Amino acid sequence: MALDLYKYVASIPDYPEKGIIFRDILPLMADGEAFKQATDEITAFARERQVDMVVGPEARGFIVGCPVAYELGVGFAPARKKGKLPRATVSASYQLEYGEATLQMENDSVKPGQRVLVVDDLLATGGTIGATVDMVEQMGGKVVGAAFLIELKELEGRKHLRGIDTKTLMEF
Ligand code: IMP
Repeated sequence: MALDLYKYVASIPDYPEKGIIFRDILPLMADGEAFKQATDEITAFARERQVDMVVGPEARGFIVGCPVAYELGVGFAPARKKGKLPRATVSASYQLEYGEATLQMENDSVKPGQRVLVVDDLLATGGTIGATVDMVEQMGGKVVGAAFLIELKELEGRKHLRGIDTKTLMEF
């Protein structure tokens, strides 16, 4: 029987600042059955879309994305915070509450025409995943799906996904 994945999310009030409820998915990742169920659901979504590459942003996007890539038998490419990658990169910036952040990917990590699934642990305002999609498209990849363990609905992050088919396992 399917597990209730909500039971594996810890909610921490007033973290990292007052008024924010932080959703911590590390208990889900620490439980073998819950992590497998979440991975299997995202893998099934990716299979339907004939994904041939998985891309996820630092750092929990790696944890969500790598087992999905392994199950599909396709590659994984990380989107990293600026300054971490040794070779030529593509970049994309997005707005934070105060200022801006930049993500980078190695500029040959997605091949033109590849069908890409972008993943992360959580969709909030959508800035992180929007920048990730932007970089995949700069390299000529086609983002055919987006998947998250959690979506924070009221922040309307999906607007950064511009109609891309999106799967979320839990909503808050
Ligand atoms: P966004 O760019 O506003 O959509 O924020 C999403 C990114 O911030 C993801 O990479 C998440 O890992 C992280 N994040 C934002 N809020 C939370 C939270 O409540 N729990 C865990 N991660 C979060």
